[in-house]
Amino acid sequence: MQPQEGTMRVKICSMAQQAALVCGVMTVFVLVFHNFAPETAYSKASPSSPKKSPVLGWPERAPRSLGRDYELPGAENSLQEGGGTTEGQTGARGAEDPLVSDEEERRRGILNALVATATAKPTTSLDDIFVSVKTTKKFHKERLDLILRTWFKLAPRQTWFFTDEDDAEYQRKTGGHLVNTNCSASHRRTALCCKMAREFDAFLESNKRWWCHFDDDNYVNVPQLVRTLGDYDPTQDWYLGKNSIRAPLEIINRDNVSQRISFWFATGGAGFCISRSLGLKMMPVAGGGKFISVGDKIRLPDDVTIGYIVEHVLRRKLTVLDEFHSHLESMKLLNTDNLASQISFSYSKHTRGKMNALPIDGLDNYQDPTRFLSIHCRLFGDAPYCPK
Ligand code: UDP
Ligand code: MN
Repeated sequence: MQPQEGTMRVKICSMAQQAALVCGVMTVFVLVFHNFAPETAYSKASPSSPKKSPVLGWPERAPRSLGRDYELPGAENSLQEGGGTTEGQTGARGAEDPLVSDEEERRRGILNALVATATAKPTTSLDDIFVSVKTTKKFHKERLDLILRTWFKLAPRQTWFFTDEDDAEYQRKTGGHLVNTNCSASHRRTALCCKMAREFDAFLESNKRWWCHFDDDNYVNVPQLVRTLGDYDPTQDWYLGKNSIRAPLEIINRDNVSQRISFWFATGGAGFCISRSLGLKMMPVAGGGKFISVGDKIRLPDDVTIGYIVEHVLRRKLTVLDEFHSHLESMKLLNTDNLASQISFSYSKHTRGKMNALPIDGLDNYQDPTRFLSIHCRLFGDAPYCPK
């Protein structure tokens, strides 16, 4: 018995050493690869972009944020747009395999422990994320229904809708997750900042590790959102999203008008995520509704105000993730072969009635003009409306 036990222990030890070696080599490889990975055209000027982009082009368009209520250059006390701005489904372990030996189990345990130590970050699950969706009464039917029929089903406990009026029908449909912010129902900067302030405060109160904001015309690929956040440590400062302009935004510093300040921001229409650590640093500046005053001070929309707080006030950086997509991108340029690796999609109606929507097969355009049902069918295929 004893010699056998001894042999077992030696075996396990040597397996542990091998596992440690493999892990070590893999970690070094990942670090080296990360450092030498080629940068995408626009990630050069901005923080790191760890994944490959399926986006083939970058249309020169003004970000939605600056399109409407922005105090344009030339206006009283003008701010100026900077150069180039011409415009729980973690990879969860499957069911227990009865054929896996104890030894194999132990080996896996060791490997997992090593991975956890090597990356030194907590594992991320869907429950770690507070998802907020900005909406307005007039879009409850048109936009929320689509979300409720698709991606909301994968994150019903984690997702909250921030709107501007009570609505008993949608309060019920969302399982009590409709928040009436009492902000005004408009697309003006002040109204959007008012809602964003409520989203931010609700995140702080939630005690979740991550806050992810989306617009109500976003499709969110929930499992990929969880997987992606798993690559980042929420106890560190992370601001993850997609810029919609090619250069940092440049504005006049209102505290010293002879100075200009420039910063990147993640476009709200593509969605963005902020780690708890960063959220806590933002709290003294933006918590308890102060976000609205910051927006008022710089007179810029909600998503730009987030960028201003993170990059200018707190001196942290936006990390660009190509997997977030707003309708400022041309959806037809996205590669529909790798949908599963993307985080968000969007759609918009062109002025001449044509849709900027993902060119994906599935339901016909009449049933699914935004293509969100077809995206959901392609990714999960489990809804009654999916083609058989
Ligand atoms: N929105 C809002 N109040 C409005 C109009 C829009 O809160 O009166 C929200 C809308 O629900 C969406 C975001 O603002 O989440 C952006 O609006 P939209 O997609 O209509 O315009 P975009 O800015 O993308 O062109
Ligand atoms: Mn939109």
